[in-house]
Amino acid sequence: MASAIFIKKLREEATCSICLELMTEPVSINCGHSYCHLCIVGFTGNQSADTSSPGTFHCPQCRKPFQSGSLRPNKQLRGMIQTFKEMNQSMCNEHGEQLHLFCENDGQLLCWCCERSPQHKGHFTATVEDACPGYREKLQKAVTKLKFTESIYMQLKLDTTQKISSWEKKIKHEEERIHSEFTNLHTFLHQEEEFYMHRLEKEKEQKLSRLQDNVAYLDNKLEELKNGILELDKKCQCSARNFLQGLSYQSRNTRGCFFGTAYCEQCL
Ligand SMILES: [Zn+2]
Ligand SMILES: [Zn+2]
Ligand SMILES: [Zn+2]
Ligand SMILES: [Zn+2]
Repeated sequence: MASAIFIKKLREEATCSICLELMTEPVSINCGHSYCHLCIVGFTGNQSADTSSPGTFHCPQCRKPFQSGSLRPNKQLRGMIQTFKEMNQSMCNEHGEQLHLFCENDGQLLCWCCERSPQHKGHFTATVEDACPGYREKLQKAVTKLKFTESIYMQLKLDTTQKISSWEKKIKHEEERIHSEFTNLHTFLHQEEEFYMHRLEKEKEQKLSRLQDNVAYLDNKLEELKNGILELDKKCQCSARNFLQGLSYQSRNTRGCFFGTAYCEQCL
């Protein structure tokens, strides 16, 4: 219990009266009181200085004057607070005794007073030194297991990355193949189109030429007929004597027809 009072007293000494926490970067002022560096700087920033002597403020605890430029880092106090913090971690908050036991049932550090309390009655306890190696071993096993799992996942990641790059290559190759095949197909279709168009053009020319020949032939025929009609019309216009004279044997053709081979139905 004595140590608990001692710790309480020590904590009070190391507590900043501005922020009410253990001091951080403690500094001392003229009167000997100490505060966190940031707390006292903040205090002088918020308080108006003594108008009779500028730069002078009053200690928040004893009201004695101090100069804002006279703050001195308190290295001794800082060291003590550090030791106190470290010591405090190994002390029971309730009883102020060393936490040198470990309750296996609760997974909790205990001091000898805690161990005897009804809360831990019948619980399995061991000294910190005895309990620690077993837990360390368990932790080490867990780390080994996790490292093994990690290596599996790393291998899986590597495999997947390789699969991705292999797939990318495969897809690229396939793209090139499709592109090349379609280029060939386009070229082939273009050639085919040209071939059929050329053949059609040739066919058109031949057909047109034949039809134009026919037209020319028919024109000739029509011209012949026109002339024949004119000739026969002329014969019809002659006097009866001349007309009949025109039908003489001399004017007949080899078939004995006097109308002319070109116009007679029988001679045609
Ligand atoms: Zn403070
Ligand atoms: Zn003071
Ligand atoms: Zn205790
Ligand atoms: Zn317990």
